[in-house]
Amino acid sequence: KCSLENANMLNLDNSVDASLDLWSRADVQTCTTWKAAIIWEGMFDPDAYDQMHRREGSSVALTVFAVGRYLDAYLKTFLNTSEQHFMLGLPVTYYIFTDVPEKVPDIKLAPQRSIKVMKVEKNSRWQDVSMMRMKTISDVIESDIRHHCTHVFCFDVDQVFTGRFGSEALGDSVALLHAHYYRLPKKYFTYDRNPNSKAYMQTGDFYYHAAIFGGLWKSVKALTEACYQGIMEDKRNNVEALWHDESHLNKYMWLHKPTKVLSPEYCWDTSIIYRSEIRVTRLMWAPKYYDTLRTP
Ligand code: UDP
Ligand code: MN
Repeated sequence: KCSLENANMLNLDNSVDASLDLWSRADVQTCTTWKAAIIWEGMFDPDAYDQMHRREGSSVALTVFAVGRYLDAYLKTFLNTSEQHFMLGLPVTYYIFTDVPEKVPDIKLAPQRSIKVMKVEKNSRWQDVSMMRMKTISDVIESDIRHHCTHVFCFDVDQVFTGRFGSEALGDSVALLHAHYYRLPKKYFTYDRNPNSKAYMQTGDFYYHAAIFGGLWKSVKALTEACYQGIMEDKRNNVEALWHDESHLNKYMWLHKPTKVLSPEYCWDTSIIYRSEIRVTRLMWAPKYYDTLRTP
């Protein structure tokens, strides 16, 4: 169980979490060693979270990149399903980054929800498209998001919302357990193991999935800026971390512990065989067509 002892020291969100949560899951780890909640279905009252965040005036920026062929392949479904499930009842601004703004689909949005399309250059290597998101997100938080939103959530586009992805996921600094690693011993975690990379780490807490991360704008700004600095230093040293931005994110979250951790319900790979602890899938991996999508 997450102890309440340091709730007062932590941000408001944590103290309210502690009083709202029902803590009724015994089959999974619901708390980290540093007392951050790991969010699973059955642990929380969704309405209580929604009321609290409406009272607090929370508003959410969702960033997503659809560069090159990823736009046609994924963006429309991502946005349509997000309108069904992501932070319903709270103000949401989508920040869509693409090299082809004119191709962004026209989506009917609920009230209090809007889209901002921002043009980015297309890096020729997919690894760079992925890594350079850190720089772009950091910049747009500074120039725009910080003036309009309290929280930021950053998403891969190759995913489909299938269940509530709501305000229980909001926190100061939020990371996601990778569906492929959450049950494995640490020795299997695919951290970067090259001492020459800034992402190098020998051990860690969890293997986090970079397909989703978020938090207060200030926390996400700090994370994206630090990861970008690490990525650029690696480039100067002619090295690249094993899993690119994800390796840097794992290093950052090891040094700066997240205040909330999302269970793999929040990003599930349905090719994994049945797991009794996954009671709901809130977001699912879309099929990956690397052969056709990643060729320049
Ligand atoms: N991306 C993109 N165009 C590209 C490569 C990547 O828009 O050519 C964005 C897109 O949002 C994608 C994310 O970067 O979801 C990460 O890449 P990908 O999903 O291929 O990585 P993986 O899920 O395999 O880690
Ligand atoms: Mn992806």
